[in-house]
Amino acid sequence: MNKSHSAVRRTSARQDSFRDQAYSSSPAGNPAWHKQSPRKKTSGRSNRTKRKSRLPWVLLLVILAVVGYRSGWFGQLFQPERINPPPPITGLHPVVAAKQKELVSLTGQQGIRVVITDGFRSSEEQDALYNQGRSEAGAVVTYAKGGQSYHNYGLAIDFALKKPDGNIIWDLDYDGNQNGRSDWLEVVGIAKKLGFTWGGDWTDFPDYPHLQMDFGYSIKQLKRGLRPKGYATPQP
Ligand SMILES: [Zn+2]
Repeated sequence: MNKSHSAVRRTSARQDSFRDQAYSSSPAGNPAWHKQSPRKKTSGRSNRTKRKSRLPWVLLLVILAVVGYRSGWFGQLFQPERINPPPPITGLHPVVAAKQKELVSLTGQQGIRVVITDGFRSSEEQDALYNQGRSEAGAVVTYAKGGQSYHNYGLAIDFALKKPDGNIIWDLDYDGNQNGRSDWLEVVGIAKKLGFTWGGDWTDFPDYPHLQMDFGYSIKQLKRGLRPKGYATPQP
Protein backbone atom coordinates (compact mmCIF):
# COMPACT_ATOMS: atom_id res chain seq x y z
CA MET A 1 0.00 0.00 0.00
CA ASN A 2 1.46 3.40 -0.99
CA LYS A 3 1.19 6.77 0.72
CA SER A 4 -1.34 8.45 -1.62
CA HIS A 5 -3.64 5.44 -1.46
CA SER A 6 -3.89 5.46 2.27
CA ALA A 7 -4.41 9.26 2.25
CA VAL A 8 -7.38 8.85 -0.06
CA ARG A 9 -8.83 6.15 2.10
CA ARG A 10 -8.48 8.24 5.21
CA THR A 11 -10.19 11.18 3.49
CA SER A 12 -13.07 9.06 2.32
CA ALA A 13 -13.44 7.61 5.78
CA ARG A 14 -13.61 11.12 7.22
CA GLN A 15 -16.17 12.11 4.62
CA ASP A 16 -18.25 9.09 5.46
CA SER A 17 -18.20 9.92 9.09
CA PHE A 18 -19.06 13.53 8.28
CA ARG A 19 -22.01 12.39 6.23
CA ASP A 20 -23.10 10.21 9.08
CA GLN A 21 -23.02 13.18 11.39
CA ALA A 22 -24.80 15.42 9.00
CA TYR A 23 -27.64 13.07 8.21
CA SER A 24 -28.02 11.38 11.51
CA SER A 25 -31.56 12.12 12.60
CA SER A 26 -30.87 11.18 16.18
CA PRO A 27 -27.54 12.44 17.56
CA ALA A 28 -27.90 10.15 20.54
CA GLY A 29 -27.94 7.15 18.25
CA ASN A 30 -24.49 7.96 16.91
CA PRO A 31 -21.64 7.87 19.39
CA ALA A 32 -19.24 9.46 16.88
CA TRP A 33 -21.40 12.55 16.76
CA HIS A 34 -21.10 12.85 20.50
CA LYS A 35 -17.35 12.41 20.51
CA GLN A 36 -16.86 15.22 18.03
CA SER A 37 -19.55 17.50 19.36
CA PRO A 38 -18.13 21.01 19.77
CA ARG A 39 -20.18 21.41 22.93
CA LYS A 40 -18.23 18.62 24.58
CA LYS A 41 -14.89 20.10 23.57
CA THR A 42 -15.38 23.21 25.68
CA SER A 43 -17.33 21.42 28.37
CA GLY A 44 -14.36 21.01 30.74
CA ARG A 45 -14.37 24.64 31.75
CA SER A 46 -18.14 25.23 31.69
CA ASN A 47 -18.72 22.13 33.84
CA ARG A 48 -16.35 23.42 36.45
CA THR A 49 -18.19 26.74 36.46
CA LYS A 50 -21.50 24.91 36.78
CA ARG A 51 -20.16 22.86 39.64
CA LYS A 52 -19.02 26.03 41.38
CA SER A 53 -22.41 27.66 41.01
CA ARG A 54 -24.09 24.53 42.39
CA LEU A 55 -21.89 24.47 45.47
CA PRO A 56 -23.91 26.92 47.62
CA TRP A 57 -27.06 24.94 46.92
CA VAL A 58 -25.42 21.67 47.88
CA LEU A 59 -24.11 23.29 51.06
CA LEU A 60 -27.58 24.63 51.84
CA LEU A 61 -29.09 21.16 51.39
CA VAL A 62 -26.44 19.63 53.67
CA ILE A 63 -27.08 22.26 56.35
CA LEU A 64 -30.87 21.72 56.07
CA ALA A 65 -30.35 17.96 56.33
CA VAL A 66 -28.19 18.28 59.45
CA VAL A 67 -30.55 20.79 61.11
CA GLY A 68 -33.56 18.67 60.16
CA TYR A 69 -31.99 15.54 61.52
CA ARG A 70 -30.89 17.14 64.81
CA SER A 71 -34.19 18.91 65.44
CA GLY A 72 -36.21 15.77 64.84
CA TRP A 73 -38.10 17.08 61.78
CA PHE A 74 -37.33 13.90 59.91
CA GLY A 75 -38.44 11.85 62.88
CA GLN A 76 -41.84 13.54 62.62
CA LEU A 77 -41.89 13.07 58.88
CA PHE A 78 -41.13 9.38 58.79
CA GLN A 79 -42.43 8.18 62.15
CA PRO A 80 -45.91 9.65 62.45
CA GLU A 81 -47.04 7.00 64.96
CA ARG A 82 -44.20 7.68 67.32
CA ILE A 83 -45.16 8.37 70.90
CA ASN A 84 -42.46 10.58 72.30
CA PRO A 85 -41.35 9.41 74.80
CA PRO A 86 -43.23 6.13 74.93
CA PRO A 87 -44.42 5.16 78.41
CA PRO A 88 -41.93 2.88 80.13
CA ILE A 89 -42.61 -0.85 79.98
CA THR A 90 -42.28 -2.55 83.32
CA GLY A 91 -43.82 -5.94 82.74
CA LEU A 92 -45.40 -8.32 80.29
CA HIS A 93 -47.95 -7.03 77.82
CA PRO A 94 -51.36 -7.96 79.30
CA VAL A 95 -52.21 -10.21 76.33
CA VAL A 96 -48.89 -12.06 76.63
CA ALA A 97 -49.40 -12.41 80.39
CA ALA A 98 -52.89 -13.86 79.87
CA LYS A 99 -51.68 -16.28 77.18
CA GLN A 100 -48.82 -17.38 79.40
CA LYS A 101 -51.31 -18.29 82.13
CA GLU A 102 -53.39 -20.18 79.60
CA LEU A 103 -50.30 -22.02 78.39
CA VAL A 104 -49.40 -23.20 81.88
CA SER A 105 -52.99 -24.27 82.50
CA LEU A 106 -53.51 -26.07 79.16
CA THR A 107 -50.19 -27.91 79.32
CA GLY A 108 -50.96 -28.83 82.93
CA GLN A 109 -54.09 -30.57 81.65
CA GLN A 110 -51.76 -32.69 79.48
CA GLY A 111 -49.70 -33.68 82.49
CA ILE A 112 -46.85 -31.32 81.62
CA ARG A 113 -45.50 -28.91 84.19
CA VAL A 114 -44.25 -25.78 82.48
CA VAL A 115 -42.05 -23.32 84.31
CA ILE A 116 -41.80 -19.78 83.00
CA THR A 117 -38.13 -18.96 83.55
CA ASP A 118 -38.18 -15.47 82.08
CA GLY A 119 -40.63 -12.83 80.96
CA PHE A 120 -40.09 -9.10 80.91
CA ARG A 121 -36.47 -8.04 81.02
CA SER A 122 -35.30 -4.46 81.41
CA SER A 123 -32.68 -3.20 78.97
CA GLU A 124 -30.12 -3.28 81.81
CA GLU A 125 -30.95 -6.91 82.59
CA GLN A 126 -30.70 -7.70 78.88
CA ASP A 127 -27.26 -6.05 78.69
CA ALA A 128 -26.11 -8.08 81.70
CA LEU A 129 -27.37 -11.24 80.00
CA TYR A 130 -25.65 -10.26 76.75
CA ASN A 131 -22.35 -9.80 78.60
CA GLN A 132 -22.60 -13.35 79.94
CA GLY A 133 -20.18 -15.47 77.92
CA ARG A 134 -18.63 -12.32 76.44
CA SER A 135 -17.12 -9.82 78.87
CA GLU A 136 -18.42 -11.91 81.79
CA ALA A 137 -18.01 -15.60 82.63
CA GLY A 138 -20.48 -18.24 81.53
CA ALA A 139 -22.04 -19.48 78.33
CA VAL A 140 -23.53 -17.21 75.67
CA VAL A 141 -27.28 -17.24 76.20
CA THR A 142 -28.45 -14.41 73.97
CA TYR A 143 -27.54 -12.56 70.81
CA ALA A 144 -29.62 -9.54 71.76
CA LYS A 145 -28.35 -6.45 73.58
CA GLY A 146 -30.62 -4.21 75.62
CA GLY A 147 -33.57 -3.04 73.50
CA GLN A 148 -33.00 -5.71 70.86
CA SER A 149 -35.06 -8.48 72.46
CA TYR A 150 -38.83 -8.86 72.58
CA HIS A 151 -38.34 -9.57 76.29
CA ASN A 152 -37.43 -5.89 76.71
CA TYR A 153 -40.91 -4.94 75.51
CA GLY A 154 -42.76 -7.52 77.59
CA LEU A 155 -43.60 -9.50 74.46
CA ALA A 156 -41.66 -12.71 75.12
CA ILE A 157 -41.39 -15.48 77.67
CA ASP A 158 -39.00 -18.40 78.13
CA PHE A 159 -40.11 -21.74 79.45
CA ALA A 160 -38.65 -24.96 80.78
CA LEU A 161 -40.09 -28.22 82.05
CA LYS A 162 -40.36 -29.31 85.68
CA LYS A 163 -39.91 -32.96 86.50
CA PRO A 164 -41.86 -34.60 89.37
CA ASP A 165 -38.65 -34.53 91.45
CA GLY A 166 -38.62 -30.75 91.12
CA ASN A 167 -35.72 -30.57 88.68
CA ILE A 168 -36.07 -28.00 85.93
CA ILE A 169 -34.97 -29.35 82.57
CA TRP A 170 -34.38 -28.11 79.04
CA ASP A 171 -34.74 -31.51 77.40
CA LEU A 172 -36.47 -31.51 74.04
CA ASP A 173 -36.89 -35.30 74.10
CA TYR A 174 -38.31 -35.68 77.61
CA ASP A 175 -41.69 -37.44 77.62
CA GLY A 176 -42.89 -37.03 81.19
CA ASN A 177 -46.56 -37.66 80.46
CA GLN A 178 -45.54 -40.78 78.50
CA ASN A 179 -47.81 -40.25 75.54
CA GLY A 180 -45.04 -41.01 73.10
CA ARG A 181 -44.53 -37.35 72.23
CA SER A 182 -41.91 -34.85 73.36
CA ASP A 183 -43.35 -32.74 76.18
CA TRP A 184 -41.36 -29.79 74.90
CA LEU A 185 -42.92 -29.96 71.45
CA GLU A 186 -46.36 -30.46 72.98
CA VAL A 187 -45.88 -27.18 74.86
CA VAL A 188 -44.74 -25.50 71.65
CA GLY A 189 -47.80 -26.81 69.79
CA ILE A 190 -50.17 -25.42 72.40
CA ALA A 191 -48.26 -22.14 72.54
CA LYS A 192 -48.53 -21.70 68.79
CA LYS A 193 -52.29 -22.27 68.96
CA LEU A 194 -52.41 -19.49 71.55
CA GLY A 195 -50.66 -17.16 69.11
CA PHE A 196 -47.03 -17.42 70.18
CA THR A 197 -44.11 -17.59 67.76
CA TRP A 198 -41.50 -20.16 68.78
CA GLY A 199 -37.80 -19.30 68.87
CA GLY A 200 -37.01 -22.91 67.95
CA ASP A 201 -38.24 -22.17 64.43
CA TRP A 202 -35.54 -19.59 63.86
CA THR A 203 -33.03 -20.98 61.41
CA ASP A 204 -30.15 -18.62 62.20
CA PHE A 205 -30.04 -18.96 66.01
CA PRO A 206 -32.77 -21.31 67.26
CA ASP A 207 -33.93 -20.34 70.76
CA TYR A 208 -35.88 -23.37 72.02
CA PRO A 209 -37.26 -22.00 75.31
CA HIS A 210 -38.39 -18.75 73.69
CA LEU A 211 -42.00 -17.82 72.89
CA GLN A 212 -43.04 -14.37 71.71
CA MET A 213 -45.92 -12.31 70.39
CA ASP A 214 -44.75 -9.41 68.25
CA PHE A 215 -48.21 -8.11 67.22
CA GLY A 216 -46.62 -7.30 63.86
CA TYR A 217 -43.98 -4.99 65.33
CA SER A 218 -40.33 -5.37 64.44
CA ILE A 219 -37.59 -4.68 66.97
CA LYS A 220 -36.64 -1.69 64.82
CA GLN A 221 -40.12 -0.21 65.22
CA LEU A 222 -40.22 -0.93 68.95
CA LYS A 223 -36.82 0.71 69.38
CA ARG A 224 -38.19 3.77 67.59
CA GLY A 225 -40.93 4.02 70.19
CA LEU A 226 -43.80 2.39 68.30
CA ARG A 227 -45.91 0.19 70.56
CA PRO A 228 -48.69 -2.33 70.09
CA LYS A 229 -51.86 -1.22 71.81
CA GLY A 230 -52.96 -2.56 75.16
CA TYR A 231 -50.01 -2.00 77.49
CA ALA A 232 -51.10 -1.34 81.02
CA THR A 233 -50.57 2.33 81.77
CA PRO A 234 -48.09 2.63 84.62
CA GLN A 235 -49.65 3.94 87.83
CA PRO A 236 -48.25 7.27 88.98
ZN1 LIG B 1 -36.47 -15.68 75.25
